[in-house]
Amino acid sequence: MAELTLKNVSKKFGTAVVVSSVDFKVEDGEFIVLVGPSGCGKSTLLRMIAGLETVSSGKIYIADALINDVPPKDRDIAMVFQNYALYPHMTVYQNMAFGLKMRGVAKTVIRQRVSEAAGILGLNDLLDRKSKALSGGQQQRVALGRAIVRQPRLFLFDEPLSNLDARLRIAMRGELIRLHKRLDATMIYVTHDQVEAMSLGERLVVLKDGAVQQIGAPLDIYQCPVNRFVAGFIGTPPMNFFPCTIKGTKQTLRLVGKECSLAVPTRRQYPAGPAILPDQEVILGIRPEDIHEEPHNNGAATEQMVTARVEFLETMGSEVLATCRLGNVEFITRLPPQTKIRATEEATLFFDMNRAHLFHSRTGESLR
Ligand code: ADP
Ligand code: MG
Repeated sequence: MAELTLKNVSKKFGTAVVVSSVDFKVEDGEFIVLVGPSGCGKSTLLRMIAGLETVSSGKIYIADALINDVPPKDRDIAMVFQNYALYPHMTVYQNMAFGLKMRGVAKTVIRQRVSEAAGILGLNDLLDRKSKALSGGQQQRVALGRAIVRQPRLFLFDEPLSNLDARLRIAMRGELIRLHKRLDATMIYVTHDQVEAMSLGERLVVLKDGAVQQIGAPLDIYQCPVNRFVAGFIGTPPMNFFPCTIKGTKQTLRLVGKECSLAVPTRRQYPAGPAILPDQEVILGIRPEDIHEEPHNNGAATEQMVTARVEFLETMGSEVLATCRLGNVEFITRLPPQTKIRATEEATLFFDMNRAHLFHSRTGESLR
């Protein structure tokens, strides 16, 4: 196993920059997730690490060795894709053994490694089955097995669970976490699904338009997003955003387009926080779980209170998601199942301003 370092890595296709000055380091044994919307350059980045795509500029190291010009087969990296690309007419055993056989690994070693991987993945009873006769989940497990038997220094996963149905995807998530613990391997996992990213990653690298937005532990990113994009991308339902103006006192927000005022989030209150100027336009961000039916006990109720129209409710069992409207902004609040609010009625709601965020109205940068 080994650590991986990317230094200022960029990729251009013609004039289009699809990966832009990416810098990060994956520690030995770490499970890191690259997450971002479709088309943001995740696969391209992974393919450069694997050596399937050239690097336009920048450097990639495994441990201390520069690997930019090392051919893929010599990088000691195993990659698992969304489409498992198994050989349909080969058995599970043959599929897992194939790569090792091509490398001239001794038969006894192959048998031992396949048997070990099959044990880990629960494939023992399927070893003689043709891979075309397997379910999607079983095929994905064989694809994992094929990677494991190689005992690579680095595992790369490119949306490997995307073709599975929702239930199986969640089950496989658990298996991947267990697999990582068991193998103690360095793993880089790519997904556009932020829930999957949150559940799997020890750290996340959030990407947009080929550029890194934020790197950190899932909870740190959830609680302290550096900009509006990250704030809106990580979390479901997403964070709510309201255009606001700072009132002259620097202590109050006035919601644009609606006559109501809120306290400036306390942890960034003037003058302790960065410069927030009177009359400045900002974006208030607040997560659905930070909007309540009761006032928060520190802070005047009037400075947390809004009167909103409830558009509709979604009963989820453990919670109710209420879509509400305030002026021309729609927002979602997450309420307990016994909530008293009703669809199409007005509701008084309280924003927990201690947990709210402010973003620059133009750049989207967090005003921490
Ligand atoms: P993701 O995996 O995040 O969905 P990709 O890395 O596949 O994104 O693609 C990033 C961007 O690069 C996309 O706009 C895509 O169209 C473009 N792209 C990917 N591969 C090529 C290629 N071989 N030639 C030209 N453009 C490409
Ligand atoms: Mg992709």
